[in-house]
Amino acid sequence: MKYLFGPVNSRRLGVSLGVDLVPYKTCSLNCVYCECGDTTDLTTAVAEYVPTDGVIAELDAYLAGSPRLDAVTFSGSGEPTLHAGIGKIIGHLKARYPHYTVAVLTNGTLLHEPGVRKSILGADVVVPSLDAVGREAFDLICRPAAGIDPDTMVAGLVEFRKEFRGTMYLEIFIVPGINDNPAELARLRDACLAIGPDRIQINSLDRPGAAGWVRPMEGSELLAIRDFFSPLEVEIIGKPAPRPQGDARAVNLIKSIMSILRRRPSTANDLLLALGVERGELDATLESMVASGMIAVERLERGAFYRIV
Ligand code: SF4
Repeated sequence: MKYLFGPVNSRRLGVSLGVDLVPYKTCSLNCVYCECGDTTDLTTAVAEYVPTDGVIAELDAYLAGSPRLDAVTFSGSGEPTLHAGIGKIIGHLKARYPHYTVAVLTNGTLLHEPGVRKSILGADVVVPSLDAVGREAFDLICRPAAGIDPDTMVAGLVEFRKEFRGTMYLEIFIVPGINDNPAELARLRDACLAIGPDRIQINSLDRPGAAGWVRPMEGSELLAIRDFFSPLEVEIIGKPAPRPQGDARAVNLIKSIMSILRRRPSTANDLLLALGVERGELDATLESMVASGMIAVERLERGAFYRIV
């Protein structure tokens, strides 16, 4: 599969087929916590980075078998709203496969553009990010492309919320020492009140990010932040629920593992949940992949993470 990956067990969306619309790694931000590594093409240029019709053909071929999925999610190794054809692809999915939830995970940087907002209005769920409103914290965490400004982003998110009829979760990634101080949290809370998402999702590092200095937050610190946002509805993103039994297993386990690790480093448990294979089979496959130099293992607080070498 060139443009699709997974399905993976998403923390938010259940069993989700990923659609990656930009080449690795094309994004308007270069977030310090990014699981995909450093952005190599830092841009705000909207373009047809991969052929729209090629993505639609691959989706049709995959979905023809009526796989058991909860969602089709635009995410992957960069910013999906940079792709000029995302609106056409969403329209195709909703017309042909209305039983699947269509979700877009976006960094929200382009939503001040009316055309970009319009392109994702057909989705069922949109999950934009907003990690900081203060210029200094925003620049430290998000390391944006030239011209991106957090105030303009917030205005775009406010407009999008007015136009979008689906479900909007706003994700805030907490980087301790940068955006967890009372002044920045107050700015974020004010922005959230203005935007009015259905829910705020607080996230923090649980796997290796692009910058080694970023540390995870303690559970108690996250709970304090959740309370700070009261009365807004806030969810601390947890671990995924186990994948339902009987879901189609990956035909080629190594290929499936590589497909997931290409997007993010993962623990054996992450892979187990995403792939639905036997633990012994997965462990043996990972061991042989490490031995052959295809992947490496890195030990962190949350456990051993596998990543592509
Ligand atoms: S976390 Fe998302 S927005 Fe940030 S650099 Fe990675 S892909 Fe881009």
